[in-house]
Amino acid sequence: MIKVAVTGAAGRMGGRIITAIKEAEGLELAGAVERPGQEMIGQDAGLIAGCGALGVAICGSLEEAMQSADVLIDFTFPDVTLQNLAVCARIGKMMIIGSTGFTPEQRAQAAAFATKIPVVLAPNMSVGVNACFKLLKEAANILGDGFDVEIVELHHNKKKDSPSGTAVRMGEVVADALGRDYNQVANFHREGMCGERSKEEIGMQTVRGGDIVGEHTLYFIGMGERIEITHRAMSRDMFARGAVRAAGWLAGKGPGLYDMQDVLGLN
Ligand code: NAD
Repeated sequence: MIKVAVTGAAGRMGGRIITAIKEAEGLELAGAVERPGQEMIGQDAGLIAGCGALGVAICGSLEEAMQSADVLIDFTFPDVTLQNLAVCARIGKMMIIGSTGFTPEQRAQAAAFATKIPVVLAPNMSVGVNACFKLLKEAANILGDGFDVEIVELHHNKKKDSPSGTAVRMGEVVADALGRDYNQVANFHREGMCGERSKEEIGMQTVRGGDIVGEHTLYFIGMGERIEITHRAMSRDMFARGAVRAAGWLAGKGPGLYDMQDVLGLN
């Protein structure tokens, strides 16, 4: 039995992850953490998640929650995740990271911690999105430089980072396949007399509103034709199931920074 702790236990993703752990074979919830002072601290994590009592109270201390856990699943925010990663690296526990919005420097810090413990870090844990990454690479290899690349993503109005980690990863995958540096070619802003579109740029647009779980479309736009590859998330459950699958996969692996492509055998 793999014993799992969850940070952000009272959050939108935390609740779905706790439910997915309950439904999974071979895993059980061993700890649940919220930010100190959060009003749900002390309550049963399963009741807060809506999947029935699990006998694990939400606490405010990661060290306490990790005492009987093998692996931490963390869907919070980059600065919180890095603090939690430092703790896991110190006490030798595995970690699954779903938080998004990491700067390149923060990703490098995560990679440094992952030299000590096994870590899966993925901006999107869904099987469908990871299949899309593979399809996008293939399409970019076929289409080459003859098609303009634009990405549009839609999310709910509570999302804090923009563009989404998934949109960024889509841009990175296509930029890599086309021999470009994503950080050089991503264009987040067009306003006023901004001039013609450059051939290399990858346009990144975001829409925020209501309760949209997450939608991503990457356009390859050519002369007289257009390809659109779209992923629509209908609920958060497949992200949660992906995180739980990653926790099962990671058990027994050596230290290193893995992603969902590794978990799904797509690399
Ligand atoms: P949310 O705001 O609903 O939940 C975050 C939770 O983290 C909150 O309950 C908050 O109180 C808690 N938190 C804050 N500081 C903490 C700390 N120090 N210790 C423990 N808990 C703490 O947000 P959400 O919609 O659940 O999203 C969380 C993250 O997951 C975001 O970065 C989002 O982009 C990402 N996300 C990733 C995927 C994926 O597949 N990788 C899918 C969906 C969302």
